[in-house]
Amino acid sequence: MAEKWLVGVDLGGTTTKIAFISFYGEILNKWEIPTDKSNEGKNIPTDIAKAIDHKLDELAHSKNEIHGIGIGAPGPVDLTSGIIYEAVNLGWKDQYPLKDLLEVETSLPVVVDNDANVAALGEMWKGAGNGAKDLVCVTLGTGVGGGVIANGDIVHGKRGAAGEIGHITSIAVGGAPCNCGKSGCLETIASATGIVRLAHEALQKGQQEGKLGEIFREYGQVSAKDVFDAARNGEKSALEVIENVASHLGVALANIANTLNPEKIVLGGGVSRAGDILLGPVKENFLKHSFPSVAKSTEIAIATLGNDAGVIGAAWLVKNKISL
Ligand SMILES: [Zn+2]
Repeated sequence: MAEKWLVGVDLGGTTTKIAFISFYGEILNKWEIPTDKSNEGKNIPTDIAKAIDHKLDELAHSKNEIHGIGIGAPGPVDLTSGIIYEAVNLGWKDQYPLKDLLEVETSLPVVVDNDANVAALGEMWKGAGNGAKDLVCVTLGTGVGGGVIANGDIVHGKRGAAGEIGHITSIAVGGAPCNCGKSGCLETIASATGIVRLAHEALQKGQQEGKLGEIFREYGQVSAKDVFDAARNGEKSALEVIENVASHLGVALANIANTLNPEKIVLGGGVSRAGDILLGPVKENFLKHSFPSVAKSTEIAIATLGNDAGVIGAAWLVKNKISL
């Protein structure tokens, strides 16, 4: 019999990515389905089960040759029971038993973890981690997510909420309100949303020179990408926004590194694709604030798996958490 396949699922608020993956972490087949959030998200497990069945039929592959399913979900997870405490984005309010429901629907063993943790495992296994067993992943997207890996496994904490790097505070005392109910969290500054907010604040104050000001006057808003493009052209207001973001992010990353001294801090998500225009000043601020021995040994790297990190990390869970 051929070697069994792993199923990796990355459950997002808009789409669900699914992949068949080999024991070596190679993606054999990947596709996505829309995430149905109607009826408090109760169709989600059935939809995933059907999608897997259809794809197996299409490939003429038997379910017996699937080792199990790993799934990353957007919320804090109880590891043993596979219950999601809450996933606001999906409509799951109170203790959603994802593992049990998906096991009933698929007749396969299921292992569940938080989506940011799963992405970190993916980067550890096949991405920028490159063999590192102590690794912190920070996803700079619409929000800021995080996953902490120590000794080759995820740190979960008491209630599955370890690694909430986006909500590190006193970043900006008295800062902007955050989705979590606090204010001044890292996420209010170092996410795409935060960058746009800072740019709008500067533009509304009248700093409207250059291309960025032009876009703002024409459309009434700018995107994070517009800010990075303007900074690359040397526009002052955009460079100031980036310096502000980089200084807060650099301090937060330095504090994380001072606590954990990981081999690598991997930056992922849409904002990380800005490249050196952001990474340069982030590294400068990181070095300025990290403990000397940490500064020498912890490296900041850019994620390499992009959107595949979630499904690959979920497959890692199947390989490592479900016994053969
Ligand atoms: Zn927050």
